[in-house]
Amino acid sequence: MPWCEDCERFYTPSTLTPQGDCPSGHHVADPDSAVLVQSTAPGRNDSAGREKRKVKAPWHFWVLVAAVVIYLGWRLVQGIAWLLS
Ligand SMILES: [Zn+2]
Repeated sequence: MPWCEDCERFYTPSTLTPQGDCPSGHHVADPDSAVLVQSTAPGRNDSAGREKRKVKAPWHFWVLVAAVVIYLGWRLVQGIAWLLS
């Protein structure tokens, strides 16, 4: 997740401009790594190469998706039961 030091917030790669800047104009990522995470914090450039990794949904996202599916499924069952009552 690209982090903008100046805005003090995270951005999704799709939020950034094609140049890798945040909406306020700060440079937070390299253009050729729009789908890659790279720290561009000053003084940490020596480890930037190792911090590149593919962006992928974190595990708690899928926990949330599963919870929503279960909840909506239950509400669907309730709705059908209400219709048939
Ligand atoms: Zn910014």
